[in-house]
Amino acid sequence: MRRQRRCKILATLGPASADKETIAALHRAGADVFRINMSHADHAGMRERIAMIREIERDAGRPIGILIDLQGPKLRIGTFRDGPVVLTKGAEFILDSDPTPGDIHRVQLPHQEILGALAAGHSVLIDDGKVRLHIVEATPQYARAIVDVGGKISDRKGVSLPDTEIPVAAMTAKDRSDLEAGLNAGVDWVAVSFVQRPDDVAEVKKIARGRALVLSKIEKPQAISRLAEIIEMSDALMVARGDLGVEMPLEKVPGLQKRITRMTRRAGKPVVVATQMLESMIVSPVPTRAEVSDVATAVFEGADAVMLSAESAAGQYPVEAVATMNRIAEEVETDRVYRDVIAGQRAAAPDPTGADAIAVAARDMAETLDLKAVCAWTSSGSTAFRIARERPHPPILALTPNRDTARRLALVWGVHAIVTKDASDLDDMARRACKFSNREGFSQEGDRVIIVAGVPFGTPGTTNMIRIGFCTGES
Ligand code: PGA
Ligand code: MN
Repeated sequence: MRRQRRCKILATLGPASADKETIAALHRAGADVFRINMSHADHAGMRERIAMIREIERDAGRPIGILIDLQGPKLRIGTFRDGPVVLTKGAEFILDSDPTPGDIHRVQLPHQEILGALAAGHSVLIDDGKVRLHIVEATPQYARAIVDVGGKISDRKGVSLPDTEIPVAAMTAKDRSDLEAGLNAGVDWVAVSFVQRPDDVAEVKKIARGRALVLSKIEKPQAISRLAEIIEMSDALMVARGDLGVEMPLEKVPGLQKRITRMTRRAGKPVVVATQMLESMIVSPVPTRAEVSDVATAVFEGADAVMLSAESAAGQYPVEAVATMNRIAEEVETDRVYRDVIAGQRAAAPDPTGADAIAVAARDMAETLDLKAVCAWTSSGSTAFRIARERPHPPILALTPNRDTARRLALVWGVHAIVTKDASDLDDMARRACKFSNREGFSQEGDRVIIVAGVPFGTPGTTNMIRIGFCTGES
């Protein structure tokens, strides 16, 4: 089974996609990677889903990526004595450390370290930004605020603090336990929520010890101000537009999406565009024109993947939503301006490494000679990442002895991964690259492909060989 597009589809699983038949239908419709959101799944539920996905993978004979999304430090207010209260603009409201149920004048903020980090002038957004306050006085015990946008607030509503650097790691005790469970269950990617600093990512990488790759969700202004360092530390990024649009003015999100996508692409790391891409399809079998345009924009920008959240997790039309994304991506990628737009965002110069120079040369040769595929022998996947960074026009066929690598590459732009034992010598390398390329429908007898490898085989980080392969009829 071969996709007719380069941009990948990441579909979130949930109650609307809990059974094996539906997940298999999502995969057939185009989902390349499945996301399990640990804000909603327990460990048993996660393991059950993973087992189903692995069965589907076996049946389909294609590697499938699995990503768990750690909830992160979601802050919440305490409770109220007499039910919800309505705050009015201009009123004073206190957040404090007192667990006594609150009222129209005050409520607990049950995170002592957060109270200590607030300062006069900081904004406090409650319930996805529906109610907005700003702090006028901050002490370690309480913070006095004025209401800027009034509204109803009730027990345990979420709190966002766009101006405050939260002095806790991005990982809570729940995240640690979810991470351990996910790693033991063999997930391929771990997403870290509310990343603020490179250290937040480093902490997860240290625990993962290479057992899974780590994706940073960019949804805090603090992360935007340290973007380059966070990209450097991460294996991939997500433009998490849901929380980003709460923590920052909504109209800044499109520009940030472009900036994050471009910077991450230049670094040769996958970038996912997420949230509300086909939101209306939660309840409607057809998307809005604006949503189609939004998905298309991400594909034109060369994002590695576009994501569905509630559309596939809780909506009425999960399979239709994936099929819609699939159609949009296929159409955009055949549009006559697509190649120009993609090429326009390519890094000006390769990094000065052998692997990068070879990736640039592979793209150049493949495009100049109009070859059918760029075949990369790769054990860690790094050669495939370097080639994907160049966004070559022909598809990338990654040949790897490592099943985990193939699964990780499911998130990467343009990569079609095959698990096969390492090549034994140069002839075997060329012969089998052509054979798989034919078998998977990229080429046929008489066609030529590019082959990239590291010799001696099986030594990671040695990409040093490029060659044109002639395909015989073998498949
Ligand atoms: P979430 O992350 O769905 O876990 O909140 C994505 C986002 O904030 O956009
Ligand atoms: Mn989020």
